[in-house]
Formats: sequence, C-alpha cells, structure tokens
Amino acid sequence: MSQEQQGAELGDSPTSPDPDSRTTAATDATPVVGIDLGTTYSVIAHLDETGRPITIRSAEGDLTTPSVVLFDGDDVIVGREGLRALSGEPDQVAECAKRDLGLKRFHKSIGGQVFPPEVIQAYILKKMRDDAALQLGEFQQAVITVPAHFDEVRRKATQDAGYMAGLKVLDIINEPTAAALAAGIAGDYLAADGKSHIAQNILVYDLGGGTFDVTVMEINGVHFRTLATDGDVQLGGRDWDQKLVDFVSQEFAGLHGFDPRQDPNFHAALWRECEDAKRTLSARQKTHVMCQFKNHRLKSEITRQKFGELTANLLERTEFTTREVLSAAGLAWDRIDRILLVGGSTRMPMVSQMIQRISGKQPDLSLSPDEAVAHGAAFLATQLQAKASGRTPSFEIRNVNSHSLGLVGKHPQTGQAENVVLIRRNTSLPARVQRTFRTEQKGQRSVLMQIIEGESALPESCTQLGRIVVRDLPRDLPARSPVQVEFTYASNGRLSVHVKIGGTDRELTSEIVRENSLTQDELDHWRNKIAGKT
Ligand code: AMP
Repeated sequence: MSQEQQGAELGDSPTSPDPDSRTTAATDATPVVGIDLGTTYSVIAHLDETGRPITIRSAEGDLTTPSVVLFDGDDVIVGREGLRALSGEPDQVAECAKRDLGLKRFHKSIGGQVFPPEVIQAYILKKMRDDAALQLGEFQQAVITVPAHFDEVRRKATQDAGYMAGLKVLDIINEPTAAALAAGIAGDYLAADGKSHIAQNILVYDLGGGTFDVTVMEINGVHFRTLATDGDVQLGGRDWDQKLVDFVSQEFAGLHGFDPRQDPNFHAALWRECEDAKRTLSARQKTHVMCQFKNHRLKSEITRQKFGELTANLLERTEFTTREVLSAAGLAWDRIDRILLVGGSTRMPMVSQMIQRISGKQPDLSLSPDEAVAHGAAFLATQLQAKASGRTPSFEIRNVNSHSLGLVGKHPQTGQAENVVLIRRNTSLPARVQRTFRTEQKGQRSVLMQIIEGESALPESCTQLGRIVVRDLPRDLPARSPVQVEFTYASNGRLSVHVKIGGTDRELTSEIVRENSLTQDELDHWRNKIAGKT
C-alpha cells in the first residue's frame, strides 16, 4: 500500500468511547477502587463516605504491597512473602513483570513454567482485590493506572490483567494524571465549588520502582489537561539498586575473587541489602552494605555522595526528559506553578535537588509519593460510577498520546517502507484522523496494514502494534485504488481502526490483531485459573 501524495488528514474531532468491550461502566453503588499497579509496589484506594481518598491496607497490614509473586507448587503468593522468597528461591519468584508487559513471555521461567507478564500482573491485582474485599465487601469495578508513556500494547495488556483478575476495568488512567487529580482535588488548588482558583500549570515528575514519567498538565476549573508527556519504561528505582549491587559486587570480587552476581541466591540477598541501603541514604549521609557468602564477608561503606556519583547518569536521563517535556509543552519554568514529585524513588534527595537546580523552584512534597496515584484513580473510579448513575462529572480529563501512531506505507517514488504518522505524539485525545492510501497493484486481493507506534521514520525502529488485513477484494480492482484509513484514539490511549476500500463495499472496523496479546480463550482460561476455578 502506498501513501497517496495528496493524502488528506482531516484532523482531530471528538470520538466515541473506548470500543473495548471489557471496559464497562459502573452502574450501582457497590464499592469502586483505584489501583496503582506499580513495578515494585502496588496500592489500592477508595473514597470514604465523605469523599476522602483512603488507602486500603493489605491483609498483612501494609499500605503498599510488593508486586512480587511466589509460585509455590499450586500456591500462588503475592506480596511480602514473595519478596522474602526472592533470596531463597529466586527461580520461583516473579517480580517487575510490569516492565515486560507487551512481550509474549515473562523474561524468565518460573518453576519451569512460562507465564505471559500480564498473568503475573493479574495475580497481583487479584491479591489487591481480595485484600480490599475483606474491608469493603465484594466488588469488581476498578480503575487501574498506567505510566503515561505506556504504548497501546502495554495498555491493552494492563486491561487484560484486570480482566483475568476478575475485575471490571472501568478505565485506565495515566499515573501522572492520577497524581495531579489527587493533588488538585485533595490539595488546595480547588475552591469549594470544585473549581481551581486560577489556571495552574503543574509538572509531575514520577519516578517509581521500574518506570519514569514526566508530564506537564494544566488545571483550569474542573479541566485537567495534559500538555505534554514523556518517559522511560526501563528506568526506575531498580536501576539505582543495580548500580549499588554492581559497585559492591565488584568490591567483593576484587577482595575474594568471586562475583556475587553469579550466584542467584547470593545476588538476590545482596539486592535486598542494597535496596535497603539506598532507602537509608535518603535519610542519612552514609550507610553500610553487608555482603556475606560462605566464609567471605565484606562490609562496604557507601556515602550519599558516592551513591550520587554511581547513579549520576540515571538522574541525568530524567533531567533530559524533564527539559524535553517542558519544551514540548511550549512552556518555560516560570510558567510552571507547581512541581509534584510522585513515586517512591523521588524520596532520594538527589531528585529534589536536581529539580530545584533546573527549575529554580521548590518541589511540592505535600503528597504521599506512594499513595497519590492510587488516590487519583479512586477519584476517577468514583466519578465514573457517579456518571453512570446520571450525575454530573465533577472534573474532566484530557490526555495526549505519548507516542506517534501510524502505519507502514511505501513511499510512492522510492518504494521504501516508511512510518506514515497519522496521529502525532502529544496530540490532545480523543482524536480521530483519516488518511487515504493507495493499493499497489492491479487485481490486488488483500490489503495489509501494519500499525506501528514510534517517532522514527524507519518502521523497524518502531513498536509493532499489530496488523489488520482486508481480504477478498474484487479481482478487477485497479491499481492505486483508494484505501481510506481512520484511526480513532480514545482518551485512555486505546486505538481502533476503520478501513474502507474505495470502489468496493469492503469496509471494516477492527481491533488490531496483536502479535503478543492473549486470545479471548486464553484470557478466560487464566481468569478461571486465577479465580481458583480450574
Ligand atoms: P513505587 O513504584 O512508586 O512504589 O516506588 C518504589 C520504588 O521507590 C522502589 O524502587 C523503592 O526502592 C523506592 N523507594 C521507596 N522508598 C525510598 C526511599 N526512602 N529512598 C529511596 N528510594 C525509595
């Protein structure tokens, strides 16, 4: 298929709601929750009868639950116990599955079994749901948060995880948007009538355990509008841990001739020590990491300054993205009214220091970095429930897309495959864009559309979202027949595609066929298994 040279882009227009049939509306007064499904920790919250967000404690009594799953024979145990098992039985434990969403398989086999990453996420959601049900009573409806820069594939995988956990996913919401909602509603941005006193621009810097997001938002009245967003799905507190692990391992190897990273149990134990040391360094100037293997010991002293040096390039990556996002939003620092720090890793003093240095402003530390995202999701869940009962929404969210969306076309002159972008990144959502392409050959019986996400002109450097094929075209279809493609991108970052072949009655609206996504049968199989029905 080649791109028509005068291919028309009709621009943005309002669109219909998310076509995903599993996204349902809350219709009654049963409890609804918001879930922050984090890479390293997850949090669940609801609104109490006065409308205040409350974090629901786990069965173990914690506000956050480690996103770690222990597969112990037929038992699947999520949370603290999984974390403890990491150093003893690392082969039985799955962690950081959020980072693998979008892949077919979790990066290692667990107890000899291969799991799709969304199944591991589903087990975590099931635990969150069961624990919350102890306090709220049975419920199904939830809003789940995702990093703003999550692509379409990862968003779909997150919704699928919710489905497999037996939840009805009312919606997914970007984590920084959720944090801004929590800050805006619970903080002092809004007047008693629910509207903000004045329009404010806020920057949300969200550094969690495994992902990093930075977003610029405008809050104006009841409208929460994202101006620009970017991030890194492979950057988070885990990478700071890794730097310490590497440093201590090298020291140990230099002293005793054995690298702790070569033994899985030793490695996992050292990891826990280092994560602990990292947390200590947020409060103190120096600490020690104990490293013990067989008869060999090392007590390594780490200062905050040393830790800063070891991780300087990681912090720089976040600084670079922060500056880029600000520029994509078309703002300078003097137009930013507040800077919110979200995610456990923003407790590291180096983060506020860097933000202060580049912005000249004191970041807002009033939010609980662990709970804000879940609280924002709980606000949205409650609002969606109210809306379904006919009540007027108390706030409105407008997002942008974090990656350009397009399809693989052939350049009409060069014949080279190229990324033809239909919806540019940072376009306000929902968006609907049409473009006309042309068939290549006379009598062409089918048209293949490869949908991709990314900024590169080279399709192979972009994320492959999936394919749509229109078959059974008439045998006498002339070459260069028009193929009208329409992308409809919902507010929550889910895409549907409509294709019409000119001069024929062939027309279809499609969910994309995804290479790495589970089929409905597989989803149902796991849903039953996770519920303990098989
Ligand atoms: P989140 O995904 O937002 O729950 O963030 C979890 C990450 O925050 C993990 O990498 C933790 O190690 C990190 N974290 C939590 N508390 C601290 C702290 N006091 N200092 C440094 N990092 C922390």
